[in-house]
Amino acid sequence: MTLLLDDITLTYPDGDGRLTALDRVGLRVPAGGLTAVVGPSGSGKSSLLAVAATLVTPDSGRVVIDGTEATALTRTESAELRRRAIGIVFQQPNLLPSLTALEQLQVMAHLEGRKPREVRDRARELLDAVDLSAQSHRRPHQLSGGQRQRVNIARALINEPRVLLVDEPTSALDHERGAAVLDLLRNLTQERRTATVLVTHDRDHLTVADEVQEMRDGAIVAIDAPAVSSPCGD
Ligand code: ADP
Ligand code: MG
Repeated sequence: MTLLLDDITLTYPDGDGRLTALDRVGLRVPAGGLTAVVGPSGSGKSSLLAVAATLVTPDSGRVVIDGTEATALTRTESAELRRRAIGIVFQQPNLLPSLTALEQLQVMAHLEGRKPREVRDRARELLDAVDLSAQSHRRPHQLSGGQRQRVNIARALINEPRVLLVDEPTSALDHERGAAVLDLLRNLTQERRTATVLVTHDRDHLTVADEVQEMRDGAIVAIDAPAVSSPCGD
C-alpha cells in the first residue's frame, strides 16, 4: 500500500479542552489509485490531508508512505520524505507571481539538486501532460483559474512523488473547468502511478474516484465503491 493511514486521531486545543479533528481514521491508497474524501466543511478533510502530508503529527496512529513509517521520523527526516515522495496541491494555487509556468516547476525541482537540463525537460513534459505547452512562458496573471490550477498540479508532480494529495482543486472553478481538472487528476494518477487523495465537498464528479470516503465530525462514516454514478449517464 503506497499510502496507509492507520487509526489516526488528531486533536487541537480548544478553550479548556480539545477538539477532535480526526477520530480513529484509516485510509489505504495503492499506487495508481484515486480515493476521494467528501464531507461538509469542518468535517476534518484538510486535517486528514495535513496528516497524510506529514505536515501535522497526529496524537496517535501511524502514517506509512511507500513503506516508510512517517510518524516515526524526526522533523528533518519527514521534511525530506515530503520533498521526495509527496506532492501537495492546495485549494488556491499559490504560484509565484513573477515566474512563468515553466519556471514555477523548475524552481521546485532545483531544490532537489538536479541538473538544469534534466529539470527543464521534465518541466516541459509535465506542462505538456497538463495541456499547457503553449502557455509555458506565461505568468500567473496571464493564465485562467483552471490553467493556474493545472500548473499547480504539474508542479506537485515535478519530483515524481509516490503520493499526491489534493485539497478542493475545483472550488474556484466553474463546473466544466472543474470536471476537466478532475479528469486530468484521474489520468495523471494512472499514468504516474501515484496514490492520490482528492478532497472535495463537491459530489458532482466523484466518478473519477476508485473509492469514496465520507467524513462527518472527524470520522469516516461510509465507504462507497465504486463511486456514485450520474443519473444522467454522462
Ligand atoms: P474541512 O477541511 O473538512 O473543512 P478541517 O480539517 O479544516 O475540516 O477542520 C476540522 C475541524 O478542526 C474543524 O472544527 C476546524 O475548526 C478544526 N481545525 C482545523 N484546523 C485547526 C487548527 N489549526 N487549530 C484548531 N482547530 C482547527
Ligand atoms: Mg478543508
